[in-house]
Amino acid sequence: MTNATSFIDHDRINSTLAAAKTPSQAQLSEILARALELKGLSTSQIAQLLQVTDPDQLNSIFDTARQVKTGIYGQRLVLFAPLYISNLCANDCAYCAFRIRNKKLKRRALRQDEIRREVEVLINEGHKRILLVAGESYPAQGLQYVFDAVDSVYSVKSGKSGSIRRVNVNIAPLSVEEFKALKAHNIGTYQIFQETYHLPTYQKMHLAGPKKDYVWRVEAPDRAMQAGIDDVGVGILFGLYDYKFEILGLMEHIAHLESRYGVGPHTVSVPRLEPACGSDVSASPPYPVDDTTFKKIVAILRLAVPYTGIIMSTRETARIRRETFALGVSQLSASSRTNPGGYSENDRDFDQAQFSLGDHRSLDEVIADLAQMGYIPSFCTACYRLGRTGDHFMELAKPGQIKFMCDPNALATFTEYLLDYATPATRDLGTKMISEKLTQIAQTNPQMAQSAQKMITEIESGKRDVYI
Ligand code: SAM
Ligand code: SF4
Repeated sequence: MTNATSFIDHDRINSTLAAAKTPSQAQLSEILARALELKGLSTSQIAQLLQVTDPDQLNSIFDTARQVKTGIYGQRLVLFAPLYISNLCANDCAYCAFRIRNKKLKRRALRQDEIRREVEVLINEGHKRILLVAGESYPAQGLQYVFDAVDSVYSVKSGKSGSIRRVNVNIAPLSVEEFKALKAHNIGTYQIFQETYHLPTYQKMHLAGPKKDYVWRVEAPDRAMQAGIDDVGVGILFGLYDYKFEILGLMEHIAHLESRYGVGPHTVSVPRLEPACGSDVSASPPYPVDDTTFKKIVAILRLAVPYTGIIMSTRETARIRRETFALGVSQLSASSRTNPGGYSENDRDFDQAQFSLGDHRSLDEVIADLAQMGYIPSFCTACYRLGRTGDHFMELAKPGQIKFMCDPNALATFTEYLLDYATPATRDLGTKMISEKLTQIAQTNPQMAQSAQKMITEIESGKRDVYI
């Protein structure tokens, strides 16, 4: 088969997969020892791990992933909410309710005042980070509509510590010039999922519209980076094609970005196909990924690209989300709606959502659950505001220095949340947890505990948005 692009080499992926055998115990130990060095793995090692199905071998992979996760990310988990501004779309993606052919969907692009109303709801729940999402078609203003929406999000001030401090964006691919204009609106990460790296499947799933162009999409992160957006997020929609091929496709993509720009993606998203109105494909995915395989995917990604964030959305149930946190997840959404206007109108109509969700809990419920599990919920946005993005971020992350900032910032932003938005029960739980964490940190790193305590004291005395 012909290669789709110079860097997603289908023949190479297929031959790596064909050569990969289930590892012996000795081979597995060797690969996992290598993973613990936190330098990633070769594609043939990844392909071998992907073959594993034996429960004992899987448990060894999970144990190693847990060690890597804790070593790099500690107990922090960063929270965000998606904000769907528009469901207008010119594409016919077979898996999505926003596809142009779905006539059941009421088309709607929120006005800027409606966007501000949605943001107010999210701020008053306690959110500080938003992922702005839209279909691939904009109202009369064109792309300016998205730029205005980003400005609208940042403009809202509400409640005690209330504003959104980082807007990440998940929209259709842009040209370099358009990406430059988007960056000028102060966005955080630009996110784009290739959906499937497998060209024939890509062609089958994208039936009409600009998204049919595989190469234009797979090269979007290149153009974003060329435009100076150095935090880029990538992803795979699991269920469309063989997950083993997809993971190796992703590795080809990451290797390409690393060699070309000196830094790979900031995050990887791992959505699984969920039922969507007007989509037969979503009702019966051609390559369904079961829960055990899904956990294996998260764990292998954690070992393969240890410094790349992994995002877990509310597509998944609370149970699966809980099980994947320790295996590698670093960011999660909470209290999400996938229909424009869904927050302020409290709309949960399946026919109007992009796809159905598995976790419907409020932010407060998710936070209480995380705290009970020993995680530190974080709303930190310090890195991108201090220019610690792209390779500057990696320069700090790889020698392990970033966590000296992340832990104090997480505890400080969690304190803000507890004081300003939490229910009394969550506040009690969180406050107790923060004091236990401070004691623990003080035992190994008194300086870090001191800087965290200083920020917490400032917040308790009324200061907001404190970070290092
Ligand atoms: N329209 C833009 C695009 O396609 O790139 C923006 C993002 S789209 C609204 C967000 C993502 O939702 C898609 O990239 C796709 O991976 C995911 N998605 C679409 N349909 C889905 C479904 N049925 N289940 C789970 N995720 C889905
Ligand atoms: Fe449109 Fe994106 Fe849905 Fe495709 S996935 S139909 S491009 S909103």
